[in-house]
Amino acid sequence: MTLTEKILARASGKARVSAGDNIWVNADVLMTHDVCGPGTIGVFHREFGRQAKVWDRERVVIIPDHYIFTADSKSNRNVDILREFVREQQIPYFYDVIDDPNGSWKFDPTQGLLNRQYGSQYAGVCHTALPQKGHTRPGEILFGTDSHTCMAGAFNQFATGIGNTDAGFVMGTGKLLIKVPETMRFRLEGKLQPGVMAKDIILHIIGEIGFDGATYRAMQFDGSGVASLSIDDRMTIANMAIEAGGKNGIFPFDSRTAEYVESRTRLNGTRSSYEPVEVDADQTVIGEWVIDLDRLEPVVACHPDPGNRKQAKELGHVKLDRAYIGSCTGGKTSDFVEFARVIRGKRVSIDTFGVPATPEIVHDLRRTRWGGRTVWDILLDAGVQMTENAGCAACLGGPVDTFGRMNTPLKCISATNRNFPGRMGHKESQVFLASPATVAASALAGKITDPREYLSN
Ligand code: SF4
Repeated sequence: MTLTEKILARASGKARVSAGDNIWVNADVLMTHDVCGPGTIGVFHREFGRQAKVWDRERVVIIPDHYIFTADSKSNRNVDILREFVREQQIPYFYDVIDDPNGSWKFDPTQGLLNRQYGSQYAGVCHTALPQKGHTRPGEILFGTDSHTCMAGAFNQFATGIGNTDAGFVMGTGKLLIKVPETMRFRLEGKLQPGVMAKDIILHIIGEIGFDGATYRAMQFDGSGVASLSIDDRMTIANMAIEAGGKNGIFPFDSRTAEYVESRTRLNGTRSSYEPVEVDADQTVIGEWVIDLDRLEPVVACHPDPGNRKQAKELGHVKLDRAYIGSCTGGKTSDFVEFARVIRGKRVSIDTFGVPATPEIVHDLRRTRWGGRTVWDILLDAGVQMTENAGCAACLGGPVDTFGRMNTPLKCISATNRNFPGRMGHKESQVFLASPATVAASALAGKITDPREYLSN
């Protein structure tokens, strides 16, 4: 069996499953956020009754992160709905924006968009926060009301996005009927060269198979090259499985996975036992692609979809208005460090916005020093507008006052994961997806630029 089949077989209580089987599986964790949480709660109450209790309050994780730092009252209200539900259900894992469990959330625009406006429990973007807070474990099943839930496949788990109706059902029963997906195998061999990042791997793959090339399939990333990829790298790759239509993305388990998961469950006091799955010699896949990491070059997914891949070095004629680094995919500590490596000691020539995915990443960037300056200060020195308000921000547009949102038809290079029309705001704006290093080089030059031009100097 493939990695995905092994996890699904175990979760359904069967010795074996095959692609195409329809099976009931037990969920290990259900995650929801401020956009889909209120709808999911509505379905749960409607179908199970106003007095119903969630199937397991320790397994429901609620993370407000999307439309948080906005004066839009309906968005603020969504966070309050989550808080009321958490109070009603006594759910322990709620990463609230404010500290008062009886309070209500109201963003204060007079304080500006850059300075921190959240309490001590706030965790930032759900997919990055889940592992940081110790909720991702190898061999488990994670359902989340967000398409990029597949990011947790980096931890050798089956993680996939589901809709509010399915999530309401999981909330009440802890189960879901799913069809076992076919598996596409991507064997990563070799090692990335300087200036090339994990984002280039996944953009390369999506360019090969198209933005619908993995529709309802598992994307299994294995091969000897995985050992050279950090946990952040694996998260970037698994995150974008959905950008090829994938049901899930999944990595093998190794010592890096164990080290990360065990340190995070220990730190947060979350469930620490887990049972990983290993790659079998005899597994049935519907196709195998070998990716030679040594030969990959920086690439860009051009407007209007994540499969529209071109080499960064061929796009110097594309002038830009804006650069953006942030999101679950591209707003991790290592993303900002690679960005800073390119930009250090120089000045951006276009509007450049930086949004760390989580408060922990804000802290990392403010603490990590290079030559007496913190990474955060290096970015400010270079003219990057950095906000402490970690969250989804302009990755999916959001209300008009969202930090970094494109309210006019601009061209933006972005470290985020999706570039369909209107994704980051104005429907006539254009988004070019790239690695943090390519975004940095392009922010300096004001046009799409291969980051190796800066690294070689
Ligand atoms: S950062 Fe973007 S892709 Fe990630 S969860 Fe938020 S909106 Fe979705």
